[in-house]
Amino acid sequence: MLELEDALARILSAVPAPGSETVSLSGALGRVLLENIRAPIDLPPFDNSAMDGYAVRSADVASARADAPARLRLIGKVAAGAQFHGELIPQTCVRLFTGSPLPRGADAVVMQEDTRSVPDDPSTILVLDRCEPQENVRFRGEDVARGRLLLSRGERLSFSQLTLLSATGLGQLKVGHQPRIGVLATGSELRAAGATLSGGQIYDSNSFALDALVRAAGAVPVVLPVVKDSLEATCASLTEGFSHCDAVVTSGGASVGELDLVKQAFQQSGGSLEFWKVSIKPGRPFVFGRLNQKLLFGLPGNPVSAIVTFLLLVRPALLRWQGASDLSLPSHPAHLAEAIANPGSRRHFMRVKIGPDGKVHSAGIQASHALSSLASANGLLDLAPSVELPAGALVRVIRWD
Ligand code: AMP
Ligand code: MG
Repeated sequence: MLELEDALARILSAVPAPGSETVSLSGALGRVLLENIRAPIDLPPFDNSAMDGYAVRSADVASARADAPARLRLIGKVAAGAQFHGELIPQTCVRLFTGSPLPRGADAVVMQEDTRSVPDDPSTILVLDRCEPQENVRFRGEDVARGRLLLSRGERLSFSQLTLLSATGLGQLKVGHQPRIGVLATGSELRAAGATLSGGQIYDSNSFALDALVRAAGAVPVVLPVVKDSLEATCASLTEGFSHCDAVVTSGGASVGELDLVKQAFQQSGGSLEFWKVSIKPGRPFVFGRLNQKLLFGLPGNPVSAIVTFLLLVRPALLRWQGASDLSLPSHPAHLAEAIANPGSRRHFMRVKIGPDGKVHSAGIQASHALSSLASANGLLDLAPSVELPAGALVRVIRWD
């Protein structure tokens, strides 16, 4: 039986190098960047006003007060998007709006609220308060200097990163190709939502979970029809899946019973098994195999086992396949609200819930078929074998959201 890290290392070494494609920014959310991006321009691209107000030479208003205003001659108006072609000479000002370029000769902006116009003299502006050089000015390059490294190869693109790139005018990016992942639930007892259950049957929940998890990992899920526990049918489904997918993720049929047919069917379809047991709970039966450049991930049938093994062993592979450099789930430290123990001999990935108190609680029943505790959990706790942790202990919570 393999330790988790050994299993993951073997999987990652079998993942093909990422293919690349060019996409528009709007199609790049959640994709993995395959190039370093440097800022093509300064941001802001020019000195401009942070306020609606008046461009001034700050020396002209250095002693302005409400009861002794500075008088300036208004010599122009610049809307955002327009430009002032002259130069601001002493004792003059130019009307500006937020985002208007700062006229040559000006070194500050007085906000509108600190000024007054003179009713019968529209070319005079009274400034009621002093201002410092540079006040209310947003300088060229103060946010981003041209040439700065904005994003590195291997990053998974978030909306906020893409927004920054769009502000620099970039339209296209080189990203990792998304592998197509077949999702195949096995089990004669499984029915699809909407069907009526007869004796011994249950609804298939793994197809839904794995479809969502594959998508969240940035790959393209292809949900295949549920297959019954027959060797012939399982071989046919695997062959079908591998004919148009880069990998197939099965659930169920991976254990040691005589109806656990995934290993056998995969070998009969020409695949070679790499390993089929990992020392974690939930999720001991976990099959990994290769079929030329394609991969088989055979997850356990119990829904929580399927989800946990996907998160720990399949998600990193799908990310690496797209070229991602960070393969780990996000995690953060927190304190236990209650004592928690793992009396077992395998590492336990326990479902936990961070409460409104910021502390870590067990999410409830930990059996691997129990979905209600998974639904109320918001993370996993990685508990070593034979360990007891007291309330208050500092732990790391692994997040999946
Ligand atoms: P297996 O690994 O095939 O022996 O399945 C273990 C347990 O998981 C059994 O109770 C199955 O009924 C259940 N199971 C298998 N596949 C699914 C599925 N797709 N959705 C929900 N439960 C499943
Ligand atoms: Mg089964």
